[in-house]
Amino acid sequence: MREVLINGVKYGRIEWTISMTQVYLDNASAAKPFPEVLEAMRPYQEEMYGVPSSDYGHTFDLQAIDAVEDARESAASAMGAEPDRVVFTSGATESNNLAVKGAAYRAGGGHVVVSEVEHSSVLNSAESLSSCGFDVTRVGVDGEGFVDPAEVEGAIRDDTILVSVMHANNEIGTIQELEAIGDVCEDSDVLFHSDASAAFTKTPLDVDAAKLDLASFSGNQVHGPKGTGALYVRNDRKISRVLEGGDEEMGVRPGTVNVPGVVGFGKAVDISEELDYGEVSRLRDRLIDGVLEMDRTRLNGSRENRLPTNVNTTFLDIEGESILLHLDMRGVAVSTGSACYSKKLAPSHVLTAVGLSPEVSHGSIRFSLSVNNSEEEIDYTLEQLREVVSSLREISAMGRKRSVPGGR
Ligand code: PMP
Repeated sequence: MREVLINGVKYGRIEWTISMTQVYLDNASAAKPFPEVLEAMRPYQEEMYGVPSSDYGHTFDLQAIDAVEDARESAASAMGAEPDRVVFTSGATESNNLAVKGAAYRAGGGHVVVSEVEHSSVLNSAESLSSCGFDVTRVGVDGEGFVDPAEVEGAIRDDTILVSVMHANNEIGTIQELEAIGDVCEDSDVLFHSDASAAFTKTPLDVDAAKLDLASFSGNQVHGPKGTGALYVRNDRKISRVLEGGDEEMGVRPGTVNVPGVVGFGKAVDISEELDYGEVSRLRDRLIDGVLEMDRTRLNGSRENRLPTNVNTTFLDIEGESILLHLDMRGVAVSTGSACYSKKLAPSHVLTAVGLSPEVSHGSIRFSLSVNNSEEEIDYTLEQLREVVSSLREISAMGRKRSVPGGR
């Protein structure tokens, strides 16, 4: 828990310095970069600003090549992959587009299977394929957010090119049975892609065991720099280029490599790989238990197969936005649903897919934890939450009373 001094709050001619507690529980939207990440990146901005363009380049470029190849080894080792199969990108959004569209463009037509709870970068890529004549099937999930491998098998047709199912869901934290889905894809000779960005380093991944052909990652999710990420590509001949340009990054992701970003991503993966998420899981469970002790609350996602960092709960009869604003005023940063959708008023497609009505899903809050959180912070959050929820419920009960004809 941090005491933050906020300077410059002006009331007339008096300037105040206020102090407030700050608890950050929105790591799935933006995880604080590790200090070592920033330190590792700095020389590649300031002194070693070459690019990894040619093995026969000058010293600056050779320094860049070494740094990028070290980062590639770090990323590959955390995926259980060979380094030469890792392509650096600007994040999971780009990786998902390159994977889904790249596989489809190579085939030139056919059928793609995605799950209903995928990130918008997968769902909208599939959507854009369907407007170009591809067929798309969306497989549903059960009440805890699990995709049934048998349902994937049932959706696969003779002309299916690709199945895309994420490793863990970024909103509700449910971890899929990736290996079982991989077996289905291998048996049917269909490419298997997974958006592994939410799960990366928080739960083990082995691209071979999961029979993955393609997998997406984001630096922002592992306390690395924003705007960095990677795509695992088992066989680059099975995907077409989506971006035209030079032959950087296997030609899969042409353009000048973001060397400082790649270095920061590699460092973040190295550190994340060594972290013990056991303590974070304990804090997650403490938060879940505390919320479920409150009246009219529910947990979204699986209790057992859940990211150590994710808590997603619904507070019936209250708006998630109101809870978020009140918690923010009390120094606790959380999100409603997923940051990617919070600008839209539409209910989260993930909560809808697990069976919540739009009214119920509007009362949902995602708390996303990190190794930087403490038990004291979780207890502070629960204390604030109890007060906020009970005062908002009182207001909402008064509102309901007033809306009754003759009510005051
Ligand atoms: N996929 C998932 C599951 C995510 O959670 C996110 C980030 N919200 C993305 C993709 C997009 O990642 P990036 O910001 O690195 O493009």
